[in-house]
Amino acid sequence: MSDAAVLAVAEHRRGELRDVSHELITAGRELADDFGGELHVAVISGDVDGFAEELNREGVDAIHTVDHGEEFDHGVYQQAVEALDADLAPTALLFPNSVNGLDYAPAVAEGLDVPYVSDAIAFDAGDELTVTREMYGSKVETTVDVDADRYALSIRGGEWPAAEGTGDAEIVAADVDVDETRLGAEVKGFEEVGGGDVDISEAEFLVSIGRGIEEEENLELIEELADALDATLSSSRPIVDNGWLPKNRQVGQSGKVVTPDVYLAIGISGAVQHVAGMKGSDTIIAINTDPNAPIFDIADYGIVGDLFEVVPELIDEFSD
Ligand code: FAD
Repeated sequence: MSDAAVLAVAEHRRGELRDVSHELITAGRELADDFGGELHVAVISGDVDGFAEELNREGVDAIHTVDHGEEFDHGVYQQAVEALDADLAPTALLFPNSVNGLDYAPAVAEGLDVPYVSDAIAFDAGDELTVTREMYGSKVETTVDVDADRYALSIRGGEWPAAEGTGDAEIVAADVDVDETRLGAEVKGFEEVGGGDVDISEAEFLVSIGRGIEEEENLELIEELADALDATLSSSRPIVDNGWLPKNRQVGQSGKVVTPDVYLAIGISGAVQHVAGMKGSDTIIAINTDPNAPIFDIADYGIVGDLFEVVPELIDEFSD
């Protein structure tokens, strides 16, 4: 039994830690402080030593590396977390609420017989843990009371700030023997879905287009603006539903959660399902003809105007 109060499991893809790994540290520290215990971080597969250095942020007490394979593998992650749990016996296991996290975290919780709450956006761990979640497309907030000594949680990306500062965590190569005979699948490689290598959740500046663009051929105008601003193009769902941009460009509840420095929403009304994916952006700018569009409720700066007039002017202003 160690002093680990929280074990947070980092996530990486194609050689890079995902932003949510640093957010997990902030969330994990918050939880560990509630118990007055330690925050331990696990990093499994890939360049574990390099990742451990990057994860060594203020507030982390120990980092456990499991050097097995390169990319995410459900069975490896499940076995590794179970082995670390047996060694550390943390009160809370913390995962990202990502495609990968949702793949193995429930299996880990089931295997360890601990309750699991997904998609946490806040929590309060007093005598009992209370987790805040959103429902009905972010229209309703609910709280879940967890009456258990140990539990697993997955946290939504973009809800906690990324941990900063350099820490002095102990880095431990974990003694985990992965039983290959128990692995149900073999990871053969990694193929991006259409849209190339673009990961809008990692972008610092997003130019996002909505139904206000009217026609597919008008997208060129927005691409030109994105180029002029050195920004990445994203969109609301109707643009993806129309097949004008690939699914990996969609921001929102059924798309990606993004937290860029700047989010420029053009011809997007600001429906709750869209806002759920971008409300964590540092600065939100909206261009819309309708002064009552809900996007203006969350925008830091707004231009009430026709995008077909405003965007060309912005391109002129920002082109080299
Ligand atoms: P609209 O709501 O039609 O808004 C277009 C806006 O453009 C309007 O505000 C209009 O005033 C403005 N406009 C029109 N012409 C111009 C012009 N010339 N210049 C400037 N402005 C102009 N949506 C998402 O985006 N992401 C999701 O992940 C998502 N998930 C969903 C999941 C579920 C279960 C459901 C039910 C819905 C989901 N939606 C999602 C859809 C969501 O409810 C909205 O329908 C969608 O976000 C609207 O997209 P929009 O703002 O581009 O279009």
